Amino acid sequence: MKEARDDSPEWDIIIVGAGPAGTAAALETLNKKYKVALMDKATFPRDKICGDALSPDVIQQFARILPSLAERFAALEAKQEIDGLRTIAPNKKQLDIKLNGRQMEKGYVVSRLDLDALMMDEVKSHPEIQVFEDTEILAIRHVGQFLRIETSKGFFSTRILIGADGNHSIVAKLLGGRQSIDRKHHCAAMRQYFENVDWPEGRSLIELHFMNEILPGYLWVFPMANNRANVGIGMLSSDVSKRKVNLKKVLEHQLATHPELAPRFANARPLETAKGFGIPIGSRRYALSGKNYLLAGDAARIVDPLSGEGIGNALRSGRFAGKHALLALEANRFDAGFLKAYDEKLYSMIGDELRISRFLQKSFRYRGTLNFLINLTTGSKKFRSLIHLLLEETNFFTEWARLSYYKRLITKKRKL
Ligand SMILES: Cc1cc2nc3c(=O)[nH]c(=O)nc-3n(C[C@H](O)[C@H](O)[C@H](O)COP(=O)(O)OP(=O)(O)OC[C@H]3O[C@@H](n4cnc5c(N)ncnc54)[C@H](O)[C@@H]3O)c2cc1C
Repeated sequence: MKEARDDSPEWDIIIVGAGPAGTAAALETLNKKYKVALMDKATFPRDKICGDALSPDVIQQFARILPSLAERFAALEAKQEIDGLRTIAPNKKQLDIKLNGRQMEKGYVVSRLDLDALMMDEVKSHPEIQVFEDTEILAIRHVGQFLRIETSKGFFSTRILIGADGNHSIVAKLLGGRQSIDRKHHCAAMRQYFENVDWPEGRSLIELHFMNEILPGYLWVFPMANNRANVGIGMLSSDVSKRKVNLKKVLEHQLATHPELAPRFANARPLETAKGFGIPIGSRRYALSGKNYLLAGDAARIVDPLSGEGIGNALRSGRFAGKHALLALEANRFDAGFLKAYDEKLYSMIGDELRISRFLQKSFRYRGTLNFLINLTTGSKKFRSLIHLLLEETNFFTEWARLSYYKRLITKKRKL
């Protein structure tokens, strides 16, 4: 492709990165008059190292993005339905938290190979979005009112760029001046697929094993369809260096010696060697936009600090970024001041949730806190029902600071 002329961009919106954030952003721009391109350096289907767990929030957002996306997901065969979460404290006491089980409150485990291909297929079914695979962004610069982008396939120019290009975002680096990873706000994690893990109590819970040497991180064992399991381990990057932890060795050691896990892995077969990838957690705020660009998903660093769950916020931020790009085009405003409204909107939606999660993550550094909390919850029926009530209330994370929320909760508890 030849270099574009300086006076008019070829595209209104270019989205770089076709993971959950980028595909959600692209789908948000449908049925508008603008020229939209979605680019990724990979060709789909492609793997993404992840725990593959989808919370009910993710499923609810599929329906909000597009009914046809929700239908596509409902038709997907290779998915494991999940009823809830089992948390195992360092003292091996366990707490099961069940999801409500209503249609929109189910969780799933789906390989990212399948999930991201499904979202990409949905995008490709709308020919008004032009998709460029195997196209890597190499350089970006401002040219007057728009951006000139150099890729492995040639030059493009656009009024607005949505950087949904993951943890090592080139958009955040080149336009936001972001340095490398922020180790105090970043987790190192490894994933390994297995088959034939034993599930003596059934395959309906995802398991988080909190262990002394990796607190406040954890080792996870998630059931998948077709007799497979997603197994992994994650820990704050600054702690990995400070405590000199070799995550791969801890994972191997625990699967071989842990009193509850070792028998379940005795006949299991690894399907790959453990693979590492970083998680940019949202335990501090970053700038999410600037002149001509918005950041979404991992590029925006908004993964839940305690659970490491990032797909829900990737979809949410992708949707908002798509919406704000449209607003900018309507207003013909691409300056940093106008686009800042995106940062405010997104943090107003997820800021409280990230703060609570950050608080819990800090508290869980101490095994005593976790042991105490899980002892209290398993030992006290009242406390357990309170935790269930809080988690069942889907508004908890956005409304916890409002008095009206607790009034409603008390009324609800009386009715139970
Ligand atoms: C080990 C691990 C376990 C996790 N477990 C879970 C979990 O169980 N549940 C959960 O909700 N979250 C989990 N997460 C977090 C989750 O994976 C991320 O939050 C999520 O993938 C973010 O989606 P995204 O679209 O922002 O980025 P990504 O999914 O990373 O997509 C970014 C895309 O950008 C493309 N790209 C990058 N650079 C360029 C470039 N220069 N040019 C063109 N394309 C480019 C990449 O090829 C990629 O396709 C986990 C993360 C890790 C590492």
